[in-house]
Amino acid sequence: MTGSPLLADLIEALRCLPGVGGKSAQRMAFHLLERERTRGLKLAGVLREAMERIGNCTRCRNFSEEPVCALCASASRDRHVLCVVESPTDLAAIEQATGYRGQYFVLLGRLSPLDGLGPEELGLAQLSARLGEGEIEEMIIATNPTVEGEATAHYLAQLAHAGGVKPTRLAHGVPLGGELEYVDRSTLAHAFGSRQALE
Ligand SMILES: [Zn+2]
Repeated sequence: MTGSPLLADLIEALRCLPGVGGKSAQRMAFHLLERERTRGLKLAGVLREAMERIGNCTRCRNFSEEPVCALCASASRDRHVLCVVESPTDLAAIEQATGYRGQYFVLLGRLSPLDGLGPEELGLAQLSARLGEGEIEEMIIATNPTVEGEATAHYLAQLAHAGGVKPTRLAHGVPLGGELEYVDRSTLAHAFGSRQALE
């Protein structure tokens, strides 16, 4: 269609990105070729290096090109609190939105027997061993408020209790700036059930 098989390959390759369909991929490819050749080459280089070198931290399973990531290696982070998240994206969201300064553990998924995701795939033996080291006092369970995320949270809470660690769960509630009449019923029911005393 484009007169260049290589260009067609480029467009097809760009479609692996989330939210990018055929039209967007074509626009990106033309944009790079017409205006951004230098930065396109830089992108290609960084992309290759990242794909080849970034693995997972042996301690928290977050993305890292070192055996132990910078967050785990940092001496300034609280060693007594561990936040468990489903994905590196969730970790980044918490890191950017909150002042949390503790440790993390990334499950790289959530319990989902139908998809073949069990305790082993989520590294829960590794997590138990981590709790067994005795440093962690509180485990913040920050899995998503989905059916599977809640099931995972329940499992993690048991793991924490077994390891003598206090499990806590992110609050579910009404979004800031939201109006009650527009909040879905289960969110409102959850928020109502987990109401807190005002100081
Ligand atoms: Zn780490």
